[in-house]
Amino acid sequence: MREANFYHAAPDGVLQCDLCRHYCRIRPGSSGLCRVRRNVDGKLFTLTWGRTVSQAADPVEKKPLLHFMPGTQTWSLGTPGCNFRCANCQNWEISQALPDETIPLIAPEAIVRNAIRAECPSICCTYTEPTIFAEYALDVMKLARQTGLRNIWVSNGYFSKNCLDAIAPWLDAVNVDLKSMDDAFYRRVCGARLAPVLDSLRLIRKSGIHLEITTLVIPGQSNDPAMLERLAGFIARDLGSDVPWHVIPFYPEISWKMQDTPPTSADAIEAAYEIGRRAGLSYVYAGSHSDTLCAECGARLVARSRQFIGAKVERFDANGRCPACLAPSPIRD
Ligand code: SF4
Repeated sequence: MREANFYHAAPDGVLQCDLCRHYCRIRPGSSGLCRVRRNVDGKLFTLTWGRTVSQAADPVEKKPLLHFMPGTQTWSLGTPGCNFRCANCQNWEISQALPDETIPLIAPEAIVRNAIRAECPSICCTYTEPTIFAEYALDVMKLARQTGLRNIWVSNGYFSKNCLDAIAPWLDAVNVDLKSMDDAFYRRVCGARLAPVLDSLRLIRKSGIHLEITTLVIPGQSNDPAMLERLAGFIARDLGSDVPWHVIPFYPEISWKMQDTPPTSADAIEAAYEIGRRAGLSYVYAGSHSDTLCAECGARLVARSRQFIGAKVERFDANGRCPACLAPSPIRD
C-alpha cells in the first residue's frame, strides 16, 4: 500500500481523488469507485502499486497500434481494478478484481529488466485500465525511458487532466477506446460518461502523443450506423483524418455479462469500415482491412497477414516515405 499522488483533502475527513474523471469523494475507511484507492486515516492510498497480475511480451499490433513501431513486441503489464464496469469486458477477471495483498510485489526495475530480457523495445500498461495504477505506471515509465524503451498505454481515456499532465512527458503512444458516441451507452454499459473521454482525446491529440482509437462493435449496443457516423466524424473533425481507427468485433463467450448478445457479423464490421472511409478517415482498420496504404496514392506501406495478432508484418515504406509517391509515411518507429 502506497500513498497516492493524485488527491486533495475536502471537508469532514473526505478525500477527493483527482486521478480520473469520476473525481470520487472518499470517506474515511472507504474506497473509490475503482475499489483500489482507499482513505486510510486521512491519506489516500493506492492498493495496487506493484501488484502486477499479468505480464507478457505481446505484438504491438495486438494493442492495437498499427502505426507505432510495427512488427515489434511490447512488454505488457496490468494490475487489478478498473474505473469502468463494462458489461462487455473481456478481462473482467482482473479488471473487476478486488485489491489483493497476496499478489507478489514486482518492482519497476524487474518489469524493465523483463522487457529488456525479452528484447521488447517498449513497455505497455494494458490488460486493465492504467489510470488506476498511474503511480506505479509512472515509476515503470520513467525507468523504461532511462533505458531507451518507449512507453505505451491502452486506456479508456477517463484519466483527469492532472493525470495526463503527469504521464504525458513519459508516454509515447496510446490506444484509447471510444466505445460509442452515446452518453447513454457509457452510463448503461460502462458506468461512466462520454464527454470526459472526448475531452481526453482532444487533449492527447494536442499533446503530440501518438494516438490510435478503437471501437468495439456490439450488436444492439454500439452498432447503430448513425452513431458510428457521428463517431467517425468526431475523429476526422476534432482529432484529424490521419488518426487510425480500429473497428473490432465483439465475442460474447468471453464477455463479463453479455453472453446472450450475438457476436458481431463480418457485414457489420465491413459497414463500419465504409462509414469510417466516408467520414474521411485515411486509416480504418477493420476485418480484412489490415494493411496500411498511403493516404496520397494508395500504395501499400505495411502489409499484415493477420490484423491483431501481428503474425507477419512487412514494411514497404522507406526513410519515412511512401515508396511510390514519396509522401510522408504515417508510421512512427
Ligand atoms: S481513480 Fe477514479 S474511480 Fe478510482 S478513486 Fe480515483 S476518481 Fe475514483
